[in-house]
Amino acid sequence: MIVGVIGCSIAYQIAKRGITSTVFEQHRFASGASGATVGIIGPLWYIDRAVPSFFRLGMSSFDMFPQLSAELAEAGAELEFRLTGILKPALTEGLYPLLQEHLPWQTEMGMGVTWLGPEEVREREPEIHPGVLGGVFSPKEGAVRGKTFVDSLVNAGTRLGATFLEGVEVTGLEVAGGRVTGVRTPFEVFHAEHTVLAAGPWTGIAGRWVPETIPIRPVRGQRIRLRKTGFVPRSTVQNVVPQTDGSLVLGATREEGVFNDHTTVSGVRQVTEAGMNVFPILGEAEFVGTVAGVRPGSPDGVPLMGPVPGWEGLRVASGHDHAGIMLSSGSGELMADYIASSDATALEAFLPSRLAGDATPDYMARPLFWNITHEK
Ligand SMILES: Cc1cc2nc3c(=O)[nH]c(=O)nc-3n(C[C@H](O)[C@H](O)[C@H](O)COP(=O)(O)OP(=O)(O)OC[C@H]3O[C@@H](n4cnc5c(N)ncnc54)[C@H](O)[C@@H]3O)c2cc1C
Repeated sequence: MIVGVIGCSIAYQIAKRGITSTVFEQHRFASGASGATVGIIGPLWYIDRAVPSFFRLGMSSFDMFPQLSAELAEAGAELEFRLTGILKPALTEGLYPLLQEHLPWQTEMGMGVTWLGPEEVREREPEIHPGVLGGVFSPKEGAVRGKTFVDSLVNAGTRLGATFLEGVEVTGLEVAGGRVTGVRTPFEVFHAEHTVLAAGPWTGIAGRWVPETIPIRPVRGQRIRLRKTGFVPRSTVQNVVPQTDGSLVLGATREEGVFNDHTTVSGVRQVTEAGMNVFPILGEAEFVGTVAGVRPGSPDGVPLMGPVPGWEGLRVASGHDHAGIMLSSGSGELMADYIASSDATALEAFLPSRLAGDATPDYMARPLFWNITHEK
């Protein structure tokens, strides 16, 4: 298994089912997107409801967080879910009706979602842009720190018998008679009944070892960290996420096809301007730093999970794109159930085989939350 938050989550869940695994990480755990993430846990905003099974995965993952938090803390390293709540302010005439349009079903989700008028928004967040027209507040969503989350999964998985190897690159797959029987590293061959490619954006490259096309594409994201003494928002507001140390993490660019973790002047400008548009006071903030990571994109915006067609023994779990942190718990559980039972029924909507044939829907064309998420 090759790994980030998705692989670590699978390893933890299969360890809970009494199955042993070895997890390989070429650098350090959370050195990929899982460490560069902004860490928002907000399925109501970031998971496409137009694909019901995908949305269900988002909600079931979200529902798992309290229990998972308790388990990981019990094992000795907390994942540190912060219940910040998420406020989506209507800062433009265009966004106002979009937020209103989605409010009824969001309210019906039983998560305490409410509409706030402009005064109520200003009362909650006094530094918000003075032109705010109102907003939707979702009190139960929040954020985690990616690195802490991954470390807590590694810790708990290790205690249950999983082996996590850092600084060990997988260089190929072992194949015998059309069946994948394990992985190769520069020093050793590891045999396994199941080999899971959960290599984030590298998953597409790893597919060439079989060879099989696994259509995962890179989508770079840059985030920044700011600090403004005396100012910390009460909630996650649009792209601004308050941290426990008083700093603010702001996400994120979306750069299709870029496969490196460089940070750029235009990326920093884009994220900074988006943040200043929400909180003008951020123009006076101290610039603490910037980080980039590469998201694993899938052709239709829905993760690929399950058997790789034509290659017995080989499974894939990737393509979680902009939402891998919030989807990791449910994905780990689905994959672990599948590995334990060989029954892929629950994975039907995520099977790589769904992409066989031609056109897949272009999820970027759907108006949905993309606008809510990214419109300034
Ligand atoms: C700036 C930014 C902001 C984001 N914000 C959010 C957010 O707010 N909420 C959210 O839910 N998601 C967010 N995401 C998305 C989320 O971080 C990703 O979907 C998730 O981290 C992907 O996890 P992964 O395990 O699939 O991949 P990765 O984290 O990339 O892990 C894959 C790992 O595999 C290792 N690897 C690759 N090839 C090999 C090999 N041959 N041998 C050994 N190891 C190998 C890599 O080193 C890497 O560490 C964000 C992403 C970015 C970049």
